[in-house]
Amino acid sequence: MGRHTGPVCRLCRREGTKLFLKGTRCDTPKCAVDRREGMPGMHQFRRGKASEYAIRLREKQKVKRFYGIFERQFRKYFYEANRKAGNTGDALMSLLERRLDNVVTRLGFAVSRPQARQVIRHGHILVNGKKLDIPSYLVKPGDQIAIKDREHSRKLIATNVGEGTPPVPDWLDRISSEPPEGRVSRMPSTQDIGLPVTPQLIVELLSR
Ligand code: SF4
Repeated sequence: MGRHTGPVCRLCRREGTKLFLKGTRCDTPKCAVDRREGMPGMHQFRRGKASEYAIRLREKQKVKRFYGIFERQFRKYFYEANRKAGNTGDALMSLLERRLDNVVTRLGFAVSRPQARQVIRHGHILVNGKKLDIPSYLVKPGDQIAIKDREHSRKLIATNVGEGTPPVPDWLDRISSEPPEGRVSRMPSTQDIGLPVTPQLIVELLSR
């Protein structure tokens, strides 16, 4: 899967909100959203009123950037959400939230989603006792997420788990910190996500 390799703070400034792409730095006064007003680029303060299309496009881009996925994969999630019964926007957010790289971040095993993806790719994560190196794997209720029983893996994760680790959302349980282990207690809903986004606007954009 491709990944964004350019400057990431620009992405947050473009969306006008923190997307937490740099881990611990995001909660410090060094965060670019707190330090610099306006959007990146030359004409940051000159842009006029956003069109209806632009508002919807920004919602989509915000979510894509938050979860670190590109357009093609995002569309696949949308089509899958569209096939499900119920509200498509909520189904879309639930699918994205269930990604393994997101869950590893939410459990505090990694400080950001890009770091979580690397930790997973390098084989440090076990799901239900088996190594799983696919960041896009969708977890389900009952799944147990743990760190590989190897000194190198434990040391790597230990720097992230501990004091200052953000609280785990309701739909996940942190079973233990030593060794780090978590469990999926239920399916996530849009309210669990904590990102200022209106999924319905994304549905309207992609349904055109
Ligand atoms: Fe975004 Fe984090 Fe950079 Fe702040 S520090 S702008 S939240 S990536």
